[in-house]
Amino acid sequence: MMTYRPEPDRDSQEWWERIATREFAVQRCDMCGTTRFPARAFCPACRTEAWHWQEVEPEGRVESWIVNHQPFMPGAREPYVVVMVRLAAVPGCLVYGNWHGERPPEPGERVRASYNRIDETLTLVNWTPAGG
Ligand SMILES: [Zn+2]
Repeated sequence: MMTYRPEPDRDSQEWWERIATREFAVQRCDMCGTTRFPARAFCPACRTEAWHWQEVEPEGRVESWIVNHQPFMPGAREPYVVVMVRLAAVPGCLVYGNWHGERPPEPGERVRASYNRIDETLTLVNWTPAGG
């Protein structure tokens, strides 16, 4: 169910490499400790350039979603659901991903990332119900 192919850039390359090893990491500022995602060169809070990766629980809550009915890519199955997830580890951060649930998502639902290995160089993050 390949719908698009992300193009890693200078800032996100290592994030994709970590995802390929099933490590969900965000950046943490060395100066003020603010976590951020997606990857960028400097801290949006204090503009410090020093930072390190920090592995976090790949969990969040469903903020919203869309059901796509348009064949953007040949071979993609429609319809499919794209969820917007508020990451628990990074306040204010929203991430997108394919929904992998047996039913539609619900508002505020707890979800957890799962990893969908596409090929040698690309693993995508999907979201599934966290349960419990
Ligand atoms: Zn900072």
